[in-house]
This record gives sequence, C-alpha cells and structure tokens, in this order.
Amino acid sequence: METICGYCGCGCGIYVNVADDDTVLGITPSYNHVVSQGRLCSKGWHGYAFVRDSRRLASPLIRQADGSFREASWEEALDKVATGLKSAMGHGDNTDRIGLISSARCTNEENFLMAKLARAGLKTSSIDHCARL
Ligand code: SF4
Repeated sequence: METICGYCGCGCGIYVNVADDDTVLGITPSYNHVVSQGRLCSKGWHGYAFVRDSRRLASPLIRQADGSFREASWEEALDKVATGLKSAMGHGDNTDRIGLISSARCTNEENFLMAKLARAGLKTSSIDHCARL
C-alpha cells in the first residue's frame, strides 16, 4: 500500500508491505515521490512496530467522575465531545473557551482540516500541535 510516512511533516512517500493477514512486514521508500525520492530516515524505515503494540488504544476512553477511564463506543464518545463543545461555544470568538491540539504526525491535509475546523467551525484561534509540548 502506498501512503505517506506520518512521523514528521516532511511527508516522505512510502510503501507499507503487508502480509495476507495484514501484518506489517516492512516499509519501502517510494522512488517516484517528490519529497523522499527513494530515501527515508531511520524512523521512516523502521518505526512501524506501534501498529500492533498492545498498549495502543483500540477504542475511545471516557473519564469518569472518580478519574478512572472506561471504554466507550465512537458514537458515545463523539456525542460527548459534541455536547461539550456546544456548551462551551459562545456567539463570537471562542479563542478563550475552546482549544484544539493536532499532531505533527498527521498529514498536511489532516492538519489543514483541523485548522479549518478550529477557525471556521469552532471560531477559535487556539490550535497547536504536539511538537511544541
Ligand atoms: S521518513 Fe523520516 S523524514 Fe521522511 S517523513 Fe518519515 S520521519 Fe520524516
């Protein structure tokens, strides 16, 4: 499968080599990609073990009143987020009320959509990403 390396904003072109059971076997650079032109750094070549890591979240978690987390469906989690955002939104600028954190591991297109959601949808300029944390 041809895709984009998600480790940093360079966006190198890669092929993810998978077995019939969808196990990731390795990464191969795309020789025709405009950014990487057949080259990858060590993270791009070898950083795919997280895909099957047992510690990876497999479903949304909702924090409960006692501070613990419980698993939830995507529908329940997204309903809770929508309810919280609606109650936080005012009629004008929401920069002091709502903030979004995106990720340096997202593609440029995903971060563009996050910025659009923040500025046009939620009327907030409070948007940042994990590279500054
Ligand atoms: S291969 Fe390295 S330089 Fe290229 S996108 Fe991935 S992390 Fe960034």
